[in-house]
Amino acid sequence: MTARTIDGTAVARRVREDVARGVAELVADGGTAPGLATVLVGDDPASEVYVRNKRRLSTEAGMVDHHRHLPADVGQAEAEALLDELAADPAVSGILLQLPTPKHLDSDALVARIPAEKDVDGLSTLNAGLLAQGRPGLRPCTPAGVMRLLDEYEVELAGAEAVVVGRSALVGRPVAQLLLARNATVTTCHSRTRDLAEVCRRADVLVVAAGIPRLVGADAVKPGATVVDVGIHRGEDGLHGDVDFAAVAEVAGLLTPVPGGVGPMTIAMLLANTLTAARAQQGRGT
Ligand code: NAD
Repeated sequence: MTARTIDGTAVARRVREDVARGVAELVADGGTAPGLATVLVGDDPASEVYVRNKRRLSTEAGMVDHHRHLPADVGQAEAEALLDELAADPAVSGILLQLPTPKHLDSDALVARIPAEKDVDGLSTLNAGLLAQGRPGLRPCTPAGVMRLLDEYEVELAGAEAVVVGRSALVGRPVAQLLLARNATVTTCHSRTRDLAEVCRRADVLVVAAGIPRLVGADAVKPGATVVDVGIHRGEDGLHGDVDFAAVAEVAGLLTPVPGGVGPMTIAMLLANTLTAARAQQGRGT
């Protein structure tokens, strides 16, 4: 193995410690502790685990838990009413609607009830638009986590060739926009890209978020490149990413593992966004 491994677990811990310090300072300064409202609809076991972790780590950072759980058969109007109530509650700094919601609900319409200043998942149309325009706003958590890892490992972005595999609103698209904002030359690949390996081989920085286990192998990686694997797949032999870790580790310069790479960063950046939102709502800047 030639690649250095990016330790997302350690970086995420540092981010959470910084957030906890920020929360303590806000309160010591006469402010109010940030409140995070996670909203879970139904009983999907994976979503329950994600939400439980978000609640546990936010309270560990000194935040107030405003969790709400709605039954799987809740109606659209009732779910929207809950989000409106949280939007109006001054104790709630951030609202996170756990996705996906049950199929009968219009999740876009639900997200639209979350005011941009409380949209700590960064998925509202306003925050997505601000990002697209290169203006400040709350950023989606996983893409923000990817950028934080690149910064922590001092990966040069200005002028770099960056290739992003995937164009979802949740990951690929915002990652590409964040890399562009840092002056990388960005190419976005997707399911209709003709020769994926050939395009990926151009990359100094390759971010893979396609949702296909081991899609990217050593033939798609330029020697010495930085490779960030966003994918998560639960197999019989544990978790895997979208990148063939063992093969790519022989070629890449820097590489995220799965687990222990991007995964832990998502919640850490959610906490960072919630603190940012609370500060802004309390007139204490960014
Ligand atoms: P998605 O299914 O919404 O989007 C996948 C994207 O990949 C699409 O834009 C599609 O065009 C592209 N794609 C599909 N097949 C392709 C191919 N053969 N070649 C090139 N591009 C292809 O998925 P998503 O929500 O963006 O998530 C991607 C992965 O990241 C999933 O494995 C998901 O579990 C994981 N994820 C991890 C975290 C985390 O915290 N680490 C957060 C969100 C998502």
